[in-house]
Amino acid sequence: MQERKYCTLVLPILTAITSNAIADQITINYLSDQQIFQVKHCFVSAPDYVEANDRQLQAASSNIKWQNQRAQVYRGYIELADGQAGCLSYDIRAKSVNSRQLKQHGEQLLIKIDAMLWQPNDLSVRIMPRVDFKHPSHIKISTPWRLLNRTVQQTSYQQKPSPRYSDGYIAIGELQLEEITLGDAKLRLAIMPGAYRHKQKKLSHWIKTMASSVAHVAGGFPLDDVQILVILVNGHGGVVPWGQVNRGGGQGVLFVVNANKSEAQLMADWTAPHEFSDLLTPYLPYDRWLSEGFASYHQNISRLKTGLLDEKTAWRKLVAGFERGSKSAAKSSAPVLKKSNRRHNMQMYWGGAVIALKAEVALQQQTHGQVTLSDALSGLQGCCLGKGRSWSAKQLFSKLDTITKTNVFSELYQQEALRKSFPEYQSLLLNLGVEKNASGQIVLNDEAPLAATRKVIASSALALNELN
Ligand SMILES: [Zn+2]
Repeated sequence: MQERKYCTLVLPILTAITSNAIADQITINYLSDQQIFQVKHCFVSAPDYVEANDRQLQAASSNIKWQNQRAQVYRGYIELADGQAGCLSYDIRAKSVNSRQLKQHGEQLLIKIDAMLWQPNDLSVRIMPRVDFKHPSHIKISTPWRLLNRTVQQTSYQQKPSPRYSDGYIAIGELQLEEITLGDAKLRLAIMPGAYRHKQKKLSHWIKTMASSVAHVAGGFPLDDVQILVILVNGHGGVVPWGQVNRGGGQGVLFVVNANKSEAQLMADWTAPHEFSDLLTPYLPYDRWLSEGFASYHQNISRLKTGLLDEKTAWRKLVAGFERGSKSAAKSSAPVLKKSNRRHNMQMYWGGAVIALKAEVALQQQTHGQVTLSDALSGLQGCCLGKGRSWSAKQLFSKLDTITKTNVFSELYQQEALRKSFPEYQSLLLNLGVEKNASGQIVLNDEAPLAATRKVIASSALALNELN
C-alpha cells in the first residue's frame, strides 16, 4: 500500500514533464453531424512508418496526408519521414469502425483505439502522447487513458503504456459520466444508456459495491485509475450478458447489462466481481488459467469477505465450480492445466481457482498465518499492475514468491500447473472443514484441522468502512 500511494503522488509530476518536453500530440476533432473523426498526429520525431493494428482502420481512413501533402499509403502502413518533426492527418468514418455491440444505440459510438488511430511502429519506446478530443457540447468521451482535463467541448488525455495486441475502447456520445472514488483509486464510470437514462444511480451503486468488495481482497482496489464502461441493452438473456477486461491503452472493464432486470438480480450476479477480480493480476495472455482462475476464486471470496455472500453460499459456489472443472477436465481436457485455453474453459477457470485456494492455504501454513494471499496480491499493486506489460505465469509466480518470501507459488507451478490436468481439491476442502452432507448440502466443520485458515479466508484485508 505504501508504495502505491507513492506512485499516485509521483505520476502527475512525470506526466507533466513528459507532455511539456518531447511528447507527441494527437488532436481528434469529432464532427458529430457527419460522424467523422479528423485526426492530426504531430510527431516530435516521426517513426519510419505508422501501422494499422486493426483490420477496419485502413478502409475507414481517407484524406491521409503527411505535412499537408498526400502521404505514401501501402497495405497496412503509411510511410513517414523517419526522424523528422511533422504532422500526419487523416479522417476516420465512425460508422465503419463502430462496435457491433452498439446496434441499439443510435448515435453513440464504441470504437477500439486501434480502429481509430494509426500507430507508430516504435510505439513501445515512445513517450506517451497527449490526446485532445474536440467535440460538440452534447458529446462526452470515455477512454482508458489518463484523464487530464474535461471541458464542455474538449476532453484531454495522456496515453498510457499498453501491452501489444490488447484492445482498449473509446466511447463517444451522450454518455452518463461519474467518477467513483475508492480509497486511492479512481473509477471513471461511463454509461451508454440507450433508452434507459434513469438507471444511472442504481448502476453506479452496483459498480461501487462490487469494486469495493474486490478492494477488500487486496487491501485496496488493484489499480489507481480505471475506465468502466456500462452498455445498457434491451434483451431477454442473462443479467449481465457480457463482461470483459481490456488492457489496451490502460485498464478498462466493459459490461453489457440487461436493462430489464431488477436491481436485486444485478446485485446477485457474479460478472462484476469476476471482472474486477481479473484486475488483481496483470495481463497474462498465454496463461489465462492463472488470471481467470484467480478471478473465478475471488469473484466468490471478495463477496464473502464483504458479507455479500455468507460463508456457506460462497463455498457452495466454489465447490460447484471445482466440480464442474474437474468433470469437464476428466472428459476432454488439455493434458496439463498450463496448456488449457479457450477450448477447455471449465478446466482453465476452475483449475486455476483451485490453485488460488492452494496458494492461500500453503502461504498461511508456511508462514504460520503471517502472510495471506491478500498480502501477496496487495504486493503486486506497487510494482506490477497497470504498467502496460505482459507476464507469463512463471514470471508472476516467481514475483509472488519474492513478495511473500516463500516458494509457495513456484512449487504450485511446478507440481500442479505443469503436471496435472486438474489439481486435487477434495482433501484440501475436508481439512478446511468444507464438507457435504448426505443430501449434498455444504456443511462447515469448525473442528477441522484448518478451520482457522478458513476463517482468515473469510476475513477482509481492510476494515469494512475503510473505503468510504
Ligand atoms: Zn475473466
